[in-house]
Amino acid sequence: MRILPWNGYEGALSLTFDDGDVSQAKIALRILDGFKKKGTFFLTGKQNDFEEIWKKAWIDGHELGNHSMRHKLPIAGEEYDAYEEVVESKSLLEKRYESAVLTYAYPYSFVTDGQIRCLQNTHIGARAGDEEQVILKYEDDVDWYKIPSFVATSDTDVITYKELIEQAVEEKAWVVFMIHAIEGIGTGYEPIPQEVLKGVLAETAKTNIWVAPFGEVCAYWRAQKIVETAIRENKTENILWDVPAFFEKRTILKVELDLNEEYQFFQNGRNIVKNAEGFYEICFNEGTLQMADKKKG
Ligand SMILES: [Zn+2]
Repeated sequence: MRILPWNGYEGALSLTFDDGDVSQAKIALRILDGFKKKGTFFLTGKQNDFEEIWKKAWIDGHELGNHSMRHKLPIAGEEYDAYEEVVESKSLLEKRYESAVLTYAYPYSFVTDGQIRCLQNTHIGARAGDEEQVILKYEDDVDWYKIPSFVATSDTDVITYKELIEQAVEEKAWVVFMIHAIEGIGTGYEPIPQEVLKGVLAETAKTNIWVAPFGEVCAYWRAQKIVETAIRENKTENILWDVPAFFEKRTILKVELDLNEEYQFFQNGRNIVKNAEGFYEICFNEGTLQMADKKKG
């Protein structure tokens, strides 16, 4: 059996937007909705503009992420409380937007041990900045709290994004774009032209890439690795794994059998039947899978 990487697509792409800029609330959301694609919006605790817009975005399937409480740099000699910036900010955002906040983006892409310690049991993953490698292959080992991203600037052209999308598909990889603002309104950092965002979304439609929020891709990949390890170490038909508390949303893994395999799958007594597309849907959150080999009968 095989868990299909990237939800059954050849690669994955996450569009992430930082700082809750006016151009995201007023323009980016509209463009994404026009293409029926979902993005991730990293918001800060101390900034509460566009509350109703973000609440609706969450209901519509976009992700709201945590971008710290005050968007501060941990500078020596200045007051900095990582717990407040990471954990308290998550709770505040969840309460304000009536949503689940599962992921974090480091302000100024500045990663510190203090933030990581606070993230480990509370967030499913964290986005860092432009490391040397922004293409993450599914078989790679990954640091869930240092997931690199491609930093978009005003002069990045559609070709550049297109090449990254094609590379992700070719290498069965995940690529994350970090965007700050869209041209046309406000004074956000490095605004990208509206036509470029539309061009990027149009490119995704030409390839078999999974366009999904950062937290959703992260959850799928993390769950896949946990279940694969459990199956590898498994001695009986009953496979068990731990479900970390930050898996607050249901994560469904797609599983396929090899030609010579004849397994029946059960989760908590429920028989999982093959769906119309030919794969089985395993709910990671149940923490258990029974695999009965029909050949052993
Ligand atoms: Zn920021």
